[in-house]
Amino acid sequence: MNTPKSKYAYHRVLLKISGEALAGTQSYGIDAEVVQRIAKQVHQIQKDGVQIALVIGGGNIYRGANGEKMGLDRVSSDYMGMLATIINALALQNALETAGAYTRVMTAIEMSKVAEPYIRRKALRHLEKGRIVIFAGGTGNPYFTTDTTAALRAIEINAEIILKATHVDGVYDDDPQKNPRATRFQQLTHLEVIDRKLKVMDATAITLCMENHLPIIVFDMHVIGNIARVIRGQKLGTMVCS
Ligand code: UDP
Repeated sequence: MNTPKSKYAYHRVLLKISGEALAGTQSYGIDAEVVQRIAKQVHQIQKDGVQIALVIGGGNIYRGANGEKMGLDRVSSDYMGMLATIINALALQNALETAGAYTRVMTAIEMSKVAEPYIRRKALRHLEKGRIVIFAGGTGNPYFTTDTTAALRAIEINAEIILKATHVDGVYDDDPQKNPRATRFQQLTHLEVIDRKLKVMDATAITLCMENHLPIIVFDMHVIGNIARVIRGQKLGTMVCS
């Protein structure tokens, strides 16, 4: 007989959601409907027995590179970006709890009034107890990205895969919005991503995944049910593996 857990190909996953995705069709900020939609899907997957951790970006609120253009120094600007990810994490936590999930936000920059500090062992314990863990505040260091955070945290918690949720249905050899002949890759190696300079994740994140044999699936998160489909092992999007 099929137990709910056996529907899924992975037992512990890390879902990376960019800040932009949370903005939905808006150019800035948080679209409550999108956040609720993600929360419902994630909660269902957790209820089915999959341990799920999330890393949230901040690009819908603030990106370090924007500050530099405005004349702010890079380090301050990056801290502003990291704080933006915490704002997003709190929004997602709220939506998850409204959906009935148990959650913890863990931040790389201590902010004890609103979230727990990131402690690896505690994160593992939360996951084992069925809590959805949201890693916020990036790595806590300037000059990094939330993609690198996703790679780092996934390796630390022994996640089997990174699910990189995007607004396109995989990785293409050219920009599919500009070039109608662009073709989608079904599978790539980490090295191919680096060599071809494909925009999957930044090079630091990809290198970290490559050195630790961590696969990544890039998929379209706007199709409802896709998060569960990729965790079930359905061939969606592009798989990046060694
Ligand atoms: N950031 C950082 N260190 C980290 C993670 C993020 O300095 O470890 C800053 C960086 O300025 C970045 C911003 O936070 O531009 C928001 O993160 P990111 O651009 O990765 O968000 P996304 O593109 O996923 O929305």
